[in-house]
Amino acid sequence: MKVDIPKNLWISSAEVDFLREGLYAGALALSLHFTGKPIESVELMSEVLDPLTKLTDGVTLLNAKRDAADAYATAKGLEHVNPVMLVVAKTIEDADEYGDILKSSEFFGGAYADAVLVGHSHFDHAVDVPHLAAAHGCPVYGSESVRHLLGLFGLAEQAVVVEPRRRYEIGPFTISFTPSLHSKLLLGRKVPMDGELTCGSLKHLGGREYRCGQVWAFTIEVAGITMYHQGSADLIDDEISTTGVDVLLCGIAGRLWSPNFTRRIIAAVDPGLIVAHHHDDFFRPVDAEMGYSFNVNLGGFVEEVAAVDPNLPVQVLEPLQTVRGGGAGAVAS
Ligand SMILES: [Zn+2]
Repeated sequence: MKVDIPKNLWISSAEVDFLREGLYAGALALSLHFTGKPIESVELMSEVLDPLTKLTDGVTLLNAKRDAADAYATAKGLEHVNPVMLVVAKTIEDADEYGDILKSSEFFGGAYADAVLVGHSHFDHAVDVPHLAAAHGCPVYGSESVRHLLGLFGLAEQAVVVEPRRRYEIGPFTISFTPSLHSKLLLGRKVPMDGELTCGSLKHLGGREYRCGQVWAFTIEVAGITMYHQGSADLIDDEISTTGVDVLLCGIAGRLWSPNFTRRIIAAVDPGLIVAHHHDDFFRPVDAEMGYSFNVNLGGFVEEVAAVDPNLPVQVLEPLQTVRGGGAGAVAS
């Protein structure tokens, strides 16, 4: 016997019981409440436990909450919020199954698929992008040069050539792109391999063909946390409108040739925590021990930050390490 329970209401209330009881015990009580009958039907139970149905109901409800919150914020002139949905899985296998459903191109038109964000198209930033795009079938956000690179691999349709400051909703994330600059690594005079990536075929795609293209910094907002990713150590101060970020993901290679880079990027985004990156020697084999890039001076960066604000924490990441700090509950990993 199949009973007709209002699906969204049922899932909404069940979320609470799901967290408290560990299973969909709430559905039992709700079926009694709405139908006056206990659940006897295996058919209903199998529907209750079907992950695609649960995730579809959850996201439908999430979208409804977002619409309601947006309408309220607009009407009241308040800042918009980005509601999130917590998905709890009993086992790693269940989590993998849920992840596969969420990321599939069929689920809400692929709105929760993975995405790749590319700051510029030098080889050390872009060489693996086509492979990631092919493996995950996901969109790639970046410059016209990145779109051209993907085209060489037959993946141009996965490219999104971004518009400055437009807010892209990607699953639970809101991403926006800020025009930025590459550091002038060639003794402060010139950006190496500058210009657009225009290589005509894979056969000719060597390291020097990975031209820089348009440089983007990006702002990542999720669950009340804001991160600002600066991929190369130069910036256009006036273009940055994101300030008071929880985490600044700060590329530090080449800052030597960008006058007052550390002071300027801190002034622009006012971070609660800095995670320094792009200091490793990427010319080493992947199985070799990590080393520092030429002239990167990670210790000097810590001192530069301290000179601006001695209370501003700086972290670097170990592989698979989680870093906590910055604003309330900020997490980088
Ligand atoms: Zn570069």
